[in-house]
Amino acid sequence: MTEIPKTHPRYLSLRTREMLVEGVEAGITSKAGLIAHGRGEAFDYILGEETIPPALKAERAAIHVLMEAEKPVISVNGNVAALVPSGIVEISNRFEAKLEVNLFHRTPERIGRIISILEEQGAEQVLGLEPDAKIKGLDHERGKCTKEGIFDSDVILVPLEDGDRAQALVDMGKKVITIDLNPLSRTSRTADITIVDNIVRAVPKLLDLSPSKSDFDNEDNLSEVLDHIFNRLKKLSQQKD
Ligand code: ATP
Repeated sequence: MTEIPKTHPRYLSLRTREMLVEGVEAGITSKAGLIAHGRGEAFDYILGEETIPPALKAERAAIHVLMEAEKPVISVNGNVAALVPSGIVEISNRFEAKLEVNLFHRTPERIGRIISILEEQGAEQVLGLEPDAKIKGLDHERGKCTKEGIFDSDVILVPLEDGDRAQALVDMGKKVITIDLNPLSRTSRTADITIVDNIVRAVPKLLDLSPSKSDFDNEDNLSEVLDHIFNRLKKLSQQKD
């Protein structure tokens, strides 16, 4: 990994990029995953690279839903495995949620490597290598899942997801929680709970915060996110040197 001095003003962001580049080199992250990350980064810059109040609210609501779930599942892709391998395993243990590897650019080799990484972090069982069910409404490759995991789940955490799959999961009656820095993405708009936060900040928060039982409305929360962005940009536009 390229050595980045800790004093560099963009240390965290650069380190995160390096983790993804390593992920590509190790064959767990796809090249397209780098581009998806770039889109996320742009939104993170606009947010101020911090967890904003509506994200905290969504994180607390997500914790509550995960605690109440009967068959929660966490869907893991190559970006998630590169950025937060230990955190995602910890969340799985905390909420007794199954882990299932599900990839947009699916190959058995990549799935196998991601499973190994999660197992190195202490995961006991990771599903995904032998799909035996199908998410309705998606083409054959992208719809592959396991019956024991995603297919039978009631609550599913799908960080950094694409809109088609989020919609298909909602259509199957799942409660969908996503982590997505883009409040305008189809996934963000489709999910039941959208955490507009960087996954590297959201995962520790999901482990540390206390749950909130209060009614959570995703549309209202996304409006709060956009208001926050609007107000921040307005303030910045009025700043003079
Ligand atoms: P959609 O299909 O939902 O409209 P999309 O086509 O942008 O979205 P992808 O290209 O699969 O979907 O990207 C996944 C999403 O993950 C993007 O919206 C991006 O903003 C977000 N994202 C990327 N990196 C991170 C990160 N580190 N933390 C949180 N979100 C991220």
